[in-house]
Amino acid sequence: MFDLLFSSDSKQTLRMLRHLAAVASLFVFTLLAVFFFYNNLFSIDKTTFNSILIFFWSGVFIFTVILRSGLNKKYSDPSLTVPQMLWGTCFLLTITYLLNEWRGLMLMAFFGMLSFGFFKLKFREFLSVGLFAILGYTLIILYIFLYEPERIKINLEVAQLLAFTSTVLVMLYTGSAIHRLRERTKKQYVALQEALEINKKLATTDDLTGLYNRRYFMEKLKQQKALSERNNLDFVIVYCDLDHFKHINDTFGHHTGDAVLIKFSEIIKTSIREIDYAARFGGEEFVCLLVDTDLANAIKVTERIRESLESYNFNDIAPSLLATVSIGIANYQEFNTIQETLMGADNRMYRAKQLGRNRVIYSDNDDDVAA
Ligand code: GH3
Ligand code: MG
Ligand code: MG
Repeated sequence: MFDLLFSSDSKQTLRMLRHLAAVASLFVFTLLAVFFFYNNLFSIDKTTFNSILIFFWSGVFIFTVILRSGLNKKYSDPSLTVPQMLWGTCFLLTITYLLNEWRGLMLMAFFGMLSFGFFKLKFREFLSVGLFAILGYTLIILYIFLYEPERIKINLEVAQLLAFTSTVLVMLYTGSAIHRLRERTKKQYVALQEALEINKKLATTDDLTGLYNRRYFMEKLKQQKALSERNNLDFVIVYCDLDHFKHINDTFGHHTGDAVLIKFSEIIKTSIREIDYAARFGGEEFVCLLVDTDLANAIKVTERIRESLESYNFNDIAPSLLATVSIGIANYQEFNTIQETLMGADNRMYRAKQLGRNRVIYSDNDDDVAA
């Protein structure tokens, strides 16, 4: 039954639910009509009455089929709110015409019908449904007054119609105010989502280089530690510090220094894999987390990074500029805590400086020097 009515598309499911609400209200109106019929408030025979019910319910069934088949998606309002409301209004107008008295009761039913469009319709759509109901009601009263005057107390009907019209106009006003409010809320929600997205980016990345910031990197490191312990995998922390960066700034200017930082972060990004993380730790210091990697592979990656910077030609920024980097690397399984692995990599980076800079140090043994 569920599959018969609802598709897997969540928007279509919502439309079908709205349609079922319309079906429920038509059901209530039908009960009302049956009550009127059996209390002899209609002057029609049973066959005519049944035909009217079958006619209107067939229309509803057609709406169900259109919504379920997806044909509704072709229309500008795929919910088909206005056509469904107009169909319901036609049913109510028919009952109104058939009634010999108590027509005012049907006006209440119209309000129920109009409230369906309250949240959904634009001003013009709501106006057209409201006017359709008012016009229909007026024509019916006029017709009965002219051709079947014994069935009507015209003064009472006109008073009711005026009250109905003014109430519909008030509804129209509040309905459109609600609609505008909804539109504004929707826009604000989208703007808020965008702001949230920007905030998230600001909170996790470094402005200048677009790499992650220290806070985010430390978070990832903690997660990686838990993951590695569970799966008994190793990971490597890479600590990079640009050589004589103060000198670069002093000689070529701060702006050129920034360009070097940006270039170096690009080199890092292209040298590591998608699953790895790179962050600017501050100033001219960078760190990488090489996931599920042993020391041998980490040496290859870091050597590539070091060589790329060393051989990079900064001709377009400052022709005589050469930049190099000192790198220390440490694997988690050697140190067993995040802090000590970080410190291990940092210490090795300092040893790289002491040994003459522009090199990768991956062990505390002086014989193990990669470059
Ligand atoms: P070493 O080889 O020993 O690392 O020498 P160094 O000059 O690189 O080291 P030091 O720590 O003395 O200097 C780092 C310089 O980096 C000092 C600082 O002005 C510069 N710096 C820090 N952040 C930025 C930045 O965002 N942009 C630029 N252009 N320079 C920066
Ligand atoms: Mg430094
Ligand atoms: Mg430095």
